[in-house]
Amino acid sequence: MKSEFDICIIGAGMAGATIAAYLAPRGIKIALIDQCFKEKKRIVGELLQPGAVLSLAQMGLGQLLDGFDAQPVEGYALLKDKEQCTIPYPAGYNGMGLHNGRFLQQIRASALAHTSVTQIHGKALKLLENNRNEIIGLSYRDAATSQVRPLYAPLTITSDGFFSNFRAHLSNNHKTVTSYFIGLILNHCTMPFPRHGHVFLSGPTPFICYPISNNEVRLLIDFPGEQLPKRALLQQHLDTNVTPFIPEPMLDSYQKALHEGRFKVMPNHYMPAKPIIRKGAVMLGDALNMRHPLTGGGLTAVFSDIQILSGHLLAMSDFNDTDLIHKKIEAYYRDRQSANTNLNILANALYAVMSNDLLKTAVFNYLQCGGTNAQESIAILAGLNRNHFSLLKQFCFLALFGAWNLVQSNVLNLPKAVRLLSDAFTIIKPLTQNELSQMSIAFPYWGRLKTFTDFSYVKTQNKS
Ligand SMILES: Cc1cc2nc3c(=O)[nH]c(=O)nc-3n(C[C@H](O)[C@H](O)[C@H](O)COP(=O)(O)OP(=O)(O)OC[C@H]3O[C@@H](n4cnc5c(N)ncnc54)[C@H](O)[C@@H]3O)c2cc1C
Repeated sequence: MKSEFDICIIGAGMAGATIAAYLAPRGIKIALIDQCFKEKKRIVGELLQPGAVLSLAQMGLGQLLDGFDAQPVEGYALLKDKEQCTIPYPAGYNGMGLHNGRFLQQIRASALAHTSVTQIHGKALKLLENNRNEIIGLSYRDAATSQVRPLYAPLTITSDGFFSNFRAHLSNNHKTVTSYFIGLILNHCTMPFPRHGHVFLSGPTPFICYPISNNEVRLLIDFPGEQLPKRALLQQHLDTNVTPFIPEPMLDSYQKALHEGRFKVMPNHYMPAKPIIRKGAVMLGDALNMRHPLTGGGLTAVFSDIQILSGHLLAMSDFNDTDLIHKKIEAYYRDRQSANTNLNILANALYAVMSNDLLKTAVFNYLQCGGTNAQESIAILAGLNRNHFSLLKQFCFLALFGAWNLVQSNVLNLPKAVRLLSDAFTIIKPLTQNELSQMSIAFPYWGRLKTFTDFSYVKTQNKS
């Protein structure tokens, strides 16, 4: 069917709006549909790792970080009991702390400024199929008239976020909740290390903070478990596991924010990507793949996926060739898997490590030593080093370092050292299996991965 659009995008969130902003100036006709185009106040997507900043720059969208008080972030600070250390990002790279809602409005405005993008205000209801089970568009309820209308395009991108209604048709994903994040904004707060992301390791589970404007700091407090915390439990968690470990200069603004009840709670999902490749539709963003937000890797993955998918789509000369689109979708799923493996494994592995006393101490001491191991680790976290071997090497080094330190300080610690190694193995094994099982999609390219060296991903992107 001849359609008015090349692509329908469901969801003008971080993924949908960004791919629209990138493809629109290249002459692709896009219908961008969302149920709400107003600025959102969310606690998600506020720390862009350098890998995400770099992807934006490579797409020519770097200017979208200007003009709304986004703050450069130069590296990480770790704080544990009375000790603290900092690890800078690799030289020449910065992260950004920002208000997600403001950033998204800039991206949306940039996309909608192009005449090739049609804004559709409504709720997508259903994917439309032809009699060969191919997806040919969608139906939506128009926000102004409440009428249900169809939209047709040779490709539909479903980027409707973590509560996606469409992933059931396009994937075999299994979604779990690892924990919850309680988000507070601390006004006029002095962090121990300005222009740094902070990870606080003194309590039983971690909490993190980073600047989101020149006078606001986002504090995200982990609440472990699959159940939404009840208010009394939440208060108890804050009183026992958080408040005693808030640094003195932050205490005033922290208590003010708590007193005013200015906090939001969000679930942290884990969902490996398990796409079903169907003609006419492709998934992008949290609809496809989620990891724990402790490492702030979500948008690095989203932007990198956009680059990969767009690279394949832009290589087509004819947008009505549905067989060719199908091949491009396959290529995208194959390529994205290897590009995101480190981000996905690291996020959930680090969360588990930081909730385990022995491993948490090991990670702090390991990174405190600085040197090439700390540099390689931060480059992986930053989304700049996507080499799988680097990740597994650093994880093994960390576990061995922790076990050796225990035994060296007292040989009677041997059982603890064995437990540390066993815990490390138990953490990394299922995460690696989940990612590598998907790697079979990329099997023909497996050999290519072996040639990856540090920063090779970044170099490849720069060349292209
Ligand atoms: C607590 C928390 C903190 C996080 N912090 C970070 C961080 O610091 N750094 C980072 O990189 N990542 C972070 N992430 C992850 C990151 O926010 C997500 O990966 C990213 O927002 C995903 O973008 P998306 O476009 O897939 O989803 P969204 O940005 O949620 O967009 C989905 C869009 O789809 C629309 N929509 C949904 N259903 C429909 C429908 N039926 N019809 C029309 N429109 C629809 C919604 O209105 C929305 O606009 C965090 C995640 C969590 C949970």
